[in-house]
Amino acid sequence: MLFTKKLSGNWKILENVVFVFAFAYIMYQLTSGYLLYFYNSIKGKGFIEAVVAPIGKHDYYKSVMAIIILLNATCVLWEILSLILLLLKQESGNLQGYSKYKYVFKKVLVNYKPSFLALLITELLPMLLLIHMFWIWLPYFQKIRLFTINLKWYSWIYAYLCFEFAIWLYHFGAHRVRLLWCLHAPHHSPSELNLTVNWVSFFAEGYYSNLIYLIILTLFGVNPVMFVAIMALSTTWGMFAHISERTLKNGKLGILQHFIITPAHHRVHHEKHPLYIDTNFATFVPLWDWVFGTLQPLKEDIREGYGVRRELDVTNFSDLYFGEIVLLYRDIKNAQTLKNKFLYLIKPPGWNPESSANTAAALRRAYLKTNPAPGLTSRSTFLSAIKLGPKTQTADQL
Ligand SMILES: [Zn+2]
Ligand SMILES: [Zn+2]
Repeated sequence: MLFTKKLSGNWKILENVVFVFAFAYIMYQLTSGYLLYFYNSIKGKGFIEAVVAPIGKHDYYKSVMAIIILLNATCVLWEILSLILLLLKQESGNLQGYSKYKYVFKKVLVNYKPSFLALLITELLPMLLLIHMFWIWLPYFQKIRLFTINLKWYSWIYAYLCFEFAIWLYHFGAHRVRLLWCLHAPHHSPSELNLTVNWVSFFAEGYYSNLIYLIILTLFGVNPVMFVAIMALSTTWGMFAHISERTLKNGKLGILQHFIITPAHHRVHHEKHPLYIDTNFATFVPLWDWVFGTLQPLKEDIREGYGVRRELDVTNFSDLYFGEIVLLYRDIKNAQTLKNKFLYLIKPPGWNPESSANTAAALRRAYLKTNPAPGLTSRSTFLSAIKLGPKTQTADQL
């Protein structure tokens, strides 16, 4: 339901004007920063300094991060500029003058309006609401630590798996609890994937999800130094996972697909098809998805498109960002009993007091009943191999 349909005329024009300014400003910041970084590199500073200086101090991960950040920025700028050039050159070849630029603008809106406006809100609102105060609480969390692990190499593996567990737990909840879904849904709304889709998230989501990760990691004895380094790696990889099919057509990354989360895995996570919704919650290591039966490889012949399952115009930013909250509010208002009002908050999206048939788990189960093959994973093979009795495989049905 397009809840802002009535307002869409003037409201959308206002949104588009804000988008043009946001796009110009953010692109200016990105490009000028990028060029300055390169210019300084010629003088032995900039990129060169960011990579070389930490090596002298044995802070190797900082060098690696500098390289990854540069690669990421290069890819983001490349994706945006090459899309605009491609649209101007090829796809609008038959159009002339005003209609040509209108066509290009519409395509840019579909690809980048959600990300640029979401980034604007993410940057501005926390400043107004003083959410950055969150970091001041950090020392108090140290008191709940059960024990502290050292900084040896194996401790990093332990810390990373703890972190991925925290991510899986939070991300699963964000999809299965309607209230949390309202705040996570903007990230799933874009109909096109590109590197900037990582910017599309509800402004407060980063803060409360980090808080949950921090509490879990602190409880398991992970050092704050490790937490910051792991967060940096995870965020960077998480951004790369959104790379467009135009830039990286087959995102499976060869043999790596068996060990890490690839762009293909994350494309599955953004898919609307019943086979794919609510799968692949991990960011880098798919261990917990495997353990909990939510790992789903991409099947090239089964595609429906990216986005959320409700009707949505992605260039209607207000609907994209707040639509789920409004729909939840309506359901709660119309619920007859206090119990049902409360259940709407905590039950999965698609649930109503009469039926659970429209929840992601039910839709996937119904699909796998008639097409079990795509749901078979190494986990289901493993489980049927160790099972006593008939050796029949059943798909992971969540
Ligand atoms: Zn998600
Ligand atoms: Zn994503």
